[in-house]
Amino acid sequence: MSSGNGLKTGISRAAFLRGGAAAVAGRASAKLVAGSAAAAPATGEGRADKASREASDVARGCRPWSWESKPVPIPASEIKTVQDVDILVIGAGLAGFSAALSAQEAGAHPVIIEKNATFGARGGHITAFKSRLQDSMGIALDYRQVIRRWVEWAQGRVNEDLLWQFARKSGACMDWMVDLVAPRGLKVALWDGYYKGPDYTELPVTHFFYKEGTNFLYTNGAVEGAGNAVLLPVLETIAKEKGIPVHYKTRAVQFVRDGNGPVIAVIAGSKGAYTRYNVARGVIIASGDYASNEEMRARYAQYSLAADSQIYFPNKCNTGDVHVMAMQTGGAMQRAEPHAAVIHLESGACSYGFLHVNGQGRRYKNEDVNTQSKSITKALQPGNTAWTIYDADGLSVVKDQIDAGLGGGLFFGQMFMRKGVKFDLDAERQILDNHLKSGKVVTADTLEDLARKMAVPVDNFIGTVKRYNEMVARRNDVDYGKRADLLAPIAKSPFYAGKLLSTVLTMVGGLRTDTRCRVLGEDDQPIANLYVVGAAAGDFFANDYPTICPGIGHGRCITFGRLAGIIAAGRSVDDFVGSIEI
Ligand SMILES: Cc1cc2nc3c(=O)[nH]c(=O)nc-3n(C[C@H](O)[C@H](O)[C@H](O)COP(=O)(O)OP(=O)(O)OC[C@H]3O[C@@H](n4cnc5c(N)ncnc54)[C@H](O)[C@@H]3O)c2cc1C
Repeated sequence: MSSGNGLKTGISRAAFLRGGAAAVAGRASAKLVAGSAAAAPATGEGRADKASREASDVARGCRPWSWESKPVPIPASEIKTVQDVDILVIGAGLAGFSAALSAQEAGAHPVIIEKNATFGARGGHITAFKSRLQDSMGIALDYRQVIRRWVEWAQGRVNEDLLWQFARKSGACMDWMVDLVAPRGLKVALWDGYYKGPDYTELPVTHFFYKEGTNFLYTNGAVEGAGNAVLLPVLETIAKEKGIPVHYKTRAVQFVRDGNGPVIAVIAGSKGAYTRYNVARGVIIASGDYASNEEMRARYAQYSLAADSQIYFPNKCNTGDVHVMAMQTGGAMQRAEPHAAVIHLESGACSYGFLHVNGQGRRYKNEDVNTQSKSITKALQPGNTAWTIYDADGLSVVKDQIDAGLGGGLFFGQMFMRKGVKFDLDAERQILDNHLKSGKVVTADTLEDLARKMAVPVDNFIGTVKRYNEMVARRNDVDYGKRADLLAPIAKSPFYAGKLLSTVLTMVGGLRTDTRCRVLGEDDQPIANLYVVGAAAGDFFANDYPTICPGIGHGRCITFGRLAGIIAAGRSVDDFVGSIEI
């Protein structure tokens, strides 16, 4: 928890007591209060303020972070069952299945435990570099440059060895997954909703799986027949057929370590009826992220608390409990902070060509940026409120821009648009209808009425639109420098305003690790027999989530899941996974 590397901006009680972090702690708390005050209800204590106050309490030394106190070891009398297993994988998500299937392929006998009654699946974008699919489509990228941009995105707060390992191995791991699920009727495609800009560009690295017969439309916040909702059931079926037991409703609660030596067991289940899993070769933590744990977010990424909401499926299962277990067993969090959050915007994130105004009815930014950046800038506005404004031609303008390769981007509605397929205007109109029904988008025949529906000052708003339209007419955004190609007037009735709502999907900071997927302690030494993969793993992201590679969260689940399974089975990665030259 020391700030020895100069990267820390958060707070640790231990550091505070040593006197080192007091000033930092004060600044961090103050920032959060300022950033989140507007998000809080007018009366009473808001969610973010509560987390901030708790963070301050810890910083003042009033109480420790919950993971800083050691749990009482669960007594033998509470263990009802003992099972001897070869490798235990904690978590039935994409990373867990990738790890277990690879361990089995490498000759081991893994068992998966999962606290929920079913596996976890969401989204579907999966990054890989130089897969067979990309090769077959003639996509050639300069991956050295991609990694440089990724490091810049994190402002150097990553373990570059992990990035290079991903770059070399992810294509082969994707090919493995494609071959594994193809006999079950799943196909793979490349997404084509890429945002192309001079400064921010999404790269053609995003794969997704689908079943024949899907219409690929993501009109109700989901798609039938594509994405991880079709991939995960197939992985579960294959795992079961290969004899990999999946013990659902089995929560890991404590690691058992042999002194400072290896992890030798995991205690799981419910109080009074625990199972002790004695492990021979190791434990692979694949338990996902901690976005539903506000104490951890307050500690590692306070800024994320200003988001409007947080979602996960199954609901709220990403509580970071295994991160905590690992830290209480000698594991360390990644050094670099703040941890990156995946924060996307609803109802208008695609609208790089639209006008954005804040709750005062004033423009505040160049709209031509990615969804992560928009989420953060919105949180800095008075009242944490902002809208995207367009007119009757707005969606056609988006189509023209996307089909011309100018815009696009994550969360623009057509999340499963295959490469070469044009933007579907009817689908986007249906999404707009849904948003109008839910009230996320409001519409009016006049700009004055629109302002009233948005509850922004009418005069400010009218003045803002007038000035914007003048700059559009001159094709020169002298206020914020938006690309001229993206400038479109707000002139034709009816007018629309979509409320920009930011949602935290996952926190992607995690346990300190190395290229052998081992959990490291504060001394950077590995804890024998303990591995971590997927969203629970650290050192891969920091600062911001690099949406230049859409789907890199899932990408690392497959790649590092596969590597960890092979390593835990005691085999050489290179015997199973080819590398690309970069
Ligand atoms: C709506 C939405 C869309 C998304 N879309 C994308 C996308 O398109 N591309 C992308 O890259 N990322 C996306 N993400 C993020 C992505 O889903 C996650 O980062 C990723 O799935 C993590 O996979 P995982 O296997 O590491 O963890 P998970 O899929 O979360 O699996 C971990 C499992 O471990 C279980 N678990 C936790 N604690 C315990 C315990 N103590 N004992 C036993 N089991 C435990 C959990 O219940 C869970 O099932 C999206 C997220 C959301 C919310």
